[in-house]
Amino acid sequence: MENDFAVTRRRFLASTSCLGVALAAARYFPAAALAEEIAGDPRIADKPLADKGFASIRRIGEGVYATISDPSKGIDTLCNGGFIVGREAVLLVEGYRTPAGAAFQMDALRQVSKLPVKAAVDTHYHFDHSMGNTHYGDQGIAVWAHAKAGPLMVQNYGMLQGKDKTEQIGSLEKRVRDAANEIERERAQGDLNLYKMIFQTIDSSVVALPNHPLDPETLPVSIDLGGIAAVIETYPGHSPTDLIIRVPDRNIVFTGDLLFSSMYPVTFDGDVGGWRRTLGTFAGFGKDTLFVPGHGKLCGQEGIALLRDIFDDLADHAGKMFQAGVPVEEATRRYTVPERFRKYPVFAWSFCIGSTMTKLYGEYKAGAPKS
Ligand SMILES: [Zn+2]
Repeated sequence: MENDFAVTRRRFLASTSCLGVALAAARYFPAAALAEEIAGDPRIADKPLADKGFASIRRIGEGVYATISDPSKGIDTLCNGGFIVGREAVLLVEGYRTPAGAAFQMDALRQVSKLPVKAAVDTHYHFDHSMGNTHYGDQGIAVWAHAKAGPLMVQNYGMLQGKDKTEQIGSLEKRVRDAANEIERERAQGDLNLYKMIFQTIDSSVVALPNHPLDPETLPVSIDLGGIAAVIETYPGHSPTDLIIRVPDRNIVFTGDLLFSSMYPVTFDGDVGGWRRTLGTFAGFGKDTLFVPGHGKLCGQEGIALLRDIFDDLADHAGKMFQAGVPVEEATRRYTVPERFRKYPVFAWSFCIGSTMTKLYGEYKAGAPKS
């Protein structure tokens, strides 16, 4: 009986469509409660300008719109973004996971403005922010990103296209099969789901590189859209290519993935020490700042404070484990989400917890204070 179940489960996993697997992964994203949570801020429109389930677009200030994804309903966009409309031009934020995701945002923009688009900015190179760039390319829209974004897209996505990935998937499946208990199995399954989604995205996309690299030495840069400015700045933290777009005239900041709102941060590609310092900088932005995070719901300074608390908790755990001489793999296994963070999802254990432990251990080995 148990064997039958195991075989059925394996067949099920093998036959489930990639979208199905991706949607299974998506349950780690917060989905519900978007509407009531954002209703508190008078700047945010009650009614969306456009809503496709997988994302909805709302006005969050005069000439400023946020695209908020709901991955429980689909993963075309997967991340959040938006657009800024001035009197003379428009700036789009994010290339999303697919051209259909970028097209959804573009179509919504055209409902409110026919002005020329100055550029679409990828806040960083990760697939869920950049693999829809082809849509902008088709429209003749320039794609801007950090100068390292293009080379990293080639290296991490372009080079993997058409390559056999069965070995990597096989070892992840083995981790699921060999898991010592249900908790470990669920964590391994989450990692496997994410890899499958990433590989599926890579193999089904045309990798369209940003055609306007932004040299970090030239940042910040202020883009005048006519009566409203978008300021592009760079900070360390989530990836080697992070940009934010500030709209000082409206007290709004598009943070890219430097902010995961009400969820654990994805740190596998990051600089944890730098990220925590960056969050300190964001905490110094005005108290009425409205943040459009890379993932999760719109928030104010409480969202920054929460992510700092989560990082502090991870660092406390890592510091104790490090000092007790516990190997990093074991420290990763032993971390448990504390009761007060229970409702904040961990998207994938190794991309969030494992990588944070590894990076913090690295910092401690280099002499950083253990907290
Ligand atoms: Zn990212």
